[in-house]
Amino acid sequence: MTVFGTRPEAIKLAPVIQQLEARDDVFETVNVSSSQHTTLLHPFTDLFGLRIDFDLEVMQQARTLSDLCAHVLRSLDSILAQVQPDLTLVQGDTTTALAGALAGFHRRVPVGHVEAGLRTGNELSPYPEEMNRRLITRLASYHFAPTPGNRDNLLAEGVPSERIFLTGNPVVDSLQAIRDVVSSVPAVDRLLLSTEGLRRIVLTTHRRESFGEVMSENLRVVRRFVERHSDVAVIFPVHPNPAVRSAANAILSGHPRICLIPPLRYEEFIALLAHTWLIISDSGGVQEEAPTLGKPLLILRENTEVPEAVTCGVARLVGGDPLRFASMLEEIHDDGLWMKQVQNTSNPFGEGDSGKRIVEAIEQVLGVSSVRVCRQDGHFVKCFLRAQPQREQSIRQSQPATARSWGGRSSAVAAGT
Ligand code: UDP
Repeated sequence: MTVFGTRPEAIKLAPVIQQLEARDDVFETVNVSSSQHTTLLHPFTDLFGLRIDFDLEVMQQARTLSDLCAHVLRSLDSILAQVQPDLTLVQGDTTTALAGALAGFHRRVPVGHVEAGLRTGNELSPYPEEMNRRLITRLASYHFAPTPGNRDNLLAEGVPSERIFLTGNPVVDSLQAIRDVVSSVPAVDRLLLSTEGLRRIVLTTHRRESFGEVMSENLRVVRRFVERHSDVAVIFPVHPNPAVRSAANAILSGHPRICLIPPLRYEEFIALLAHTWLIISDSGGVQEEAPTLGKPLLILRENTEVPEAVTCGVARLVGGDPLRFASMLEEIHDDGLWMKQVQNTSNPFGEGDSGKRIVEAIEQVLGVSSVRVCRQDGHFVKCFLRAQPQREQSIRQSQPATARSWGGRSSAVAAGT
């Protein structure tokens, strides 16, 4: 059973779900959306063809993080009782992911964590994501770590090495898949035309811990930079959160070279990034996408859970000081060397095969050992052998491999055959 609810979770779970569904001889996948993101999520589930089997429509009722968590937890509990999955799969660090992991744990269903082991080291930043990640690590049985650094973080917290799988980050799979099929996007072509010949900056900012004065100061720095340089344009797909919208409108509107636009669909956003001079963002996912695109990124944060983007040379951390942010922009404007260097950086987040690696690891932990065709009532049907997952054995009573029919499909299993 997969659980997701926001734009980044859809992007990063899509390659895993696609690989699971490609193995429908052994896996039956049930997808649950919390719809923690409302308008932002569904263009992404449509784009990746993600089927939603249960929609919790949580934002119709939730007003606070605790509301959201409680609603997802309560709804998932009854779905888990009904579906009785062998594994609950969550991604990243959202409140949906935390509630999904806790609900699985309560029902003694093993939890797999995609994008495990990311840490800033500051439990309040990003908020609440850093704490969510740490808690999910405690609840999960299997940890799919994108990078060796993420694996080291998990080992340092006492996670047994045999529960950690080095997989890369499935955002690379999604980005490559989209980049390969998208050539020209009309909405983006219009933006590119209107900013032709200018140095394009794509800006995104939406982190909760930046709301208020921090975000306003950063946006003022951006506006002053554009005013000072007639060869610069900024394109800002504004996150629908009211705190972001009001700051963007108050500080950045009314300038001919600053375009405030609604959030873009993934294919549009990626097509735009491909034509950008510089990215400025506080997003986690964008930090992982910049190396794949070979685009320089200023990270609008004090710390990052993705230090690999900085150490590979693609990203620079702004920190919390607006004066420093302003001087970094000037330096980049005057010296084009960094822009050239990042184009040749190797990608620390994998090669686009993370979905496959994660599903191979799931096969291993669920003990899917073989599939073959056998004869039943005069018909040939798929038969497979499977053992109980490792964690289930330790928290439930140990059971032998048993027969199970998958989603009504004709299948037969004979233990030991
Ligand atoms: N993104 C998008 N359209 C936009 C802005 C961002 O498709 O207008 C994508 C971006 O490529 C990245 C993801 O959304 O993969 C990041 O989502 P978000 O910033 O909401 O979450 P975070 O990555 O910070 O968890």
